[in-house]
Amino acid sequence: MHITRNRPDSLPGPARNFTGTVWLDEIADPGAPSRLVVMNVHFAPGARTAWHRHPHGQVLHVTEGQGLVRRRGGPAETVRSGDTVWIEPGEWHWHGAAPRSFMTHLAVVEAADDGTTIDWAAPVGDDEYPA
Ligand code: MN
Repeated sequence: MHITRNRPDSLPGPARNFTGTVWLDEIADPGAPSRLVVMNVHFAPGARTAWHRHPHGQVLHVTEGQGLVRRRGGPAETVRSGDTVWIEPGEWHWHGAAPRSFMTHLAVVEAADDGTTIDWAAPVGDDEYPA
């Protein structure tokens, strides 16, 4: 058993993978044989991930604010504090804050055999983000 009382530093979301201001707090990344990775992700209004997918899918649990999630071929959908989203393995998608609201979610994934948790693609430009 291990109790974390001193949190790791918050890390800024890298500009190649995120649009706008995003901060990442690691909650759990215990390593093998566990595949679990849990992050707490804070999005400023208008901030969002690039398009991406997860090899074993992802659970998003919104803990604060209002946000948007979109899967390829679908509309951008509003999510609010208390909502939980399941993203299928390999499903291309993005998630982020609503245009005028902060949003925080827990993000839960399982790593692939090679340690990969995310496969990144193109940024979500202003032309495909609902104003
Ligand atoms: Mn995702």
